[in-house]
Amino acid sequence: MTLSRQTLLIDADDTLWENNVFFEQTIDSFVSALEPLGYPRDYIRRILNETERRNIRQHGYGVRSFGRSLEETYLKLAGSMARRDMLGQIADMVRELERIPPKILDGVPETLAYLTSRHRLILFSKGEPAEQAGKVERSGLQSYFEAIEIVSEKNAKAYEHAVEQFHIVKATGWMVGNSPRSDINPALDAGLNAVFIPHPDTWELEHTELRSGTGKIVIVQAFRDLREHF
Ligand SMILES: [Mg+2]
Repeated sequence: MTLSRQTLLIDADDTLWENNVFFEQTIDSFVSALEPLGYPRDYIRRILNETERRNIRQHGYGVRSFGRSLEETYLKLAGSMARRDMLGQIADMVRELERIPPKILDGVPETLAYLTSRHRLILFSKGEPAEQAGKVERSGLQSYFEAIEIVSEKNAKAYEHAVEQFHIVKATGWMVGNSPRSDINPALDAGLNAVFIPHPDTWELEHTELRSGTGKIVIVQAFRDLREHF
């Protein structure tokens, strides 16, 4: 443990609260609803993933972009068999997903209370700004953070920008999160240190190999384990 004040950028989805598991549940219902079209489940999922990748590039992350991907996947696979009532069913699934209240991960509030008394905390999340801000507000965790920063993509450039914006000293700056692709690798690329907290339900599109950088990388099993390092 170190006594000097450090800056911790902290991811939100699947780091502070459950997120992807709810998307997975929606995808499961979606795939089941499409199975009567005669495609294998993993094929439907593959088409959905491809559609999502394309829509994220064009429209960014978030529930609305996801809903658009479900709809397009259905229209593509159903072809001339497409039915209006199925589009309504998809819209209902997305609305239901939007209504799910935040489920804070175990040990998060007390660990944030501990960390914020010693360090500067900045919530650093990617997604649709209004949607993410709404989740932060409903989570009740806002007050632990000096700033809430929501970006469209968490790449090395976004981290460099955050370093400048918040005057972060790289040697004592950390990114904490569950995604190798969005949290760990680009933060290391930008010269920061990183704490990886694996989450079993991490989204497929966030999976990638951890790379090494000039900064330190620490792997912990749970959010509360951060106390042992900070
Ligand atoms: Mg995350």
